[in-house]
Amino acid sequence: MLQGNSLAARDVASFIHPYTNLATHLDKGPLVIERGQGVFVYDDTGRDYLEGMAGLWCASLGFSEPELVEAAIRQMRALPFYHTFTGKGHEPSILLAEKLKAMMPFPASKVFFANSGSEANDTQVKLAWYVMNARGEPRRKKIISRNKAYHGVTVAAASLTGLPNNHRDFDLPIANILHTDCPHHYRFAEAGETEEAFASRLADSLEAMILREGPETIAAFIAEPVMGAGGVLTPPATYFEKVQKVLSKYGILLIDDEVICGFGRTANMFAAETYGITPNSMSVAKALSSAYMPISAVVVDQQMFDGMVEESRKIGTFGHGYTYSGHPVAAAVALRTLELYEERNILGHVRDVTPHFQKRLRGFADHPLVGEVRGVGLLGAIELVADKKSKRSFAPDKGVGTAAVARALDHGLIVRGIADSIAFCPPLIITQAEIDLMFDRFAMALSDIE
Ligand code: PLP
Repeated sequence: MLQGNSLAARDVASFIHPYTNLATHLDKGPLVIERGQGVFVYDDTGRDYLEGMAGLWCASLGFSEPELVEAAIRQMRALPFYHTFTGKGHEPSILLAEKLKAMMPFPASKVFFANSGSEANDTQVKLAWYVMNARGEPRRKKIISRNKAYHGVTVAAASLTGLPNNHRDFDLPIANILHTDCPHHYRFAEAGETEEAFASRLADSLEAMILREGPETIAAFIAEPVMGAGGVLTPPATYFEKVQKVLSKYGILLIDDEVICGFGRTANMFAAETYGITPNSMSVAKALSSAYMPISAVVVDQQMFDGMVEESRKIGTFGHGYTYSGHPVAAAVALRTLELYEERNILGHVRDVTPHFQKRLRGFADHPLVGEVRGVGLLGAIELVADKKSKRSFAPDKGVGTAAVARALDHGLIVRGIADSIAFCPPLIITQAEIDLMFDRFAMALSDIE
């Protein structure tokens, strides 16, 4: 364990880091980030790092947007906190709900606020149950998620997540959460199977699961349009079209988790547009406020809201909400973020630089260590393999992905390793020259581990 009075030693003496190997951290200590400028962050020795992950897929406007700071200060001065329980309200949360609703790519009815993606998805589970009770179908309690999905870490959201690390020894998943196939064509398609045939097989498998469980027991299906923390897995062609057909056949709600994909990431404002998804409800967070304040939202359609009102009419108070639901400072910052997306035509910028980002990303496809390159918009991943031809992965204890991430850090680039896939999700404001710098730094990291 680190000793002394350095910031690193004080960190290991007092702080429990989320998503960190707690044992090795005791000897290693933290990378202390002190400030940000555009797409760069700087550590406490003054070293710069290009933030190729926008933090955790979130700081869409980079790390030094003064307009968001001003929005926070203005709201802090006017009303730093008030709650929205028992029918109380304040302007920022009302204006934000109105704006979000107007932006939605599906017929949205109302907006509920929470503080994180996990809380949004926990809310989704509870709303699905509540609405099914309102509909007089109380047996519909099961929620279908997918292997390799990531929906957060609270008890229900972690159960929806389909990654072993989030379940193992936490005694999860809870009851009523099921996982169907992961739609990663490169890893799970059969030899010679087209994307379309793979999508059909997965839709059939979903239908078989529904029939096995009994359609009258299934409330909802939840999906990220592009699976982020599972490895940046883009869906195979026709996947959502086929899945949606199955869901509507059996009256099952579709929950679209756009916590990563929302607000321009896939070169449309929402990935629902990119993949032709018409959900009953959507979760958003992260880029909702460019991550400058913790805030998330659940946006529901009329059918879901009618169910909520109906149940509340029967039993009284809708017994769900967080102290900070629609927090005025977070709402004011989020509202300004959404305005800046429009004023600066951030979506237009994403569309302008996406071809270059995707070209540079796909430029790694011929590298001897690279098995697959995949991505959409300003989101991508490079999967490293031990054998390109057979797609054989490296042994997990080889830690090749971890080594690539560490070498990238040495070269001044922050990226995320997901097993042996390296994820890229830079701030949406990244320029073409910065995209070049990002991939040049990654190329140097890859040469180091060859
Ligand atoms: N949903 C998706 C798709 C995510 O990627 C994440 C976090 O990365 C979450 C939910 C959970 O969000 P949070 O970490 O804010 O709870």
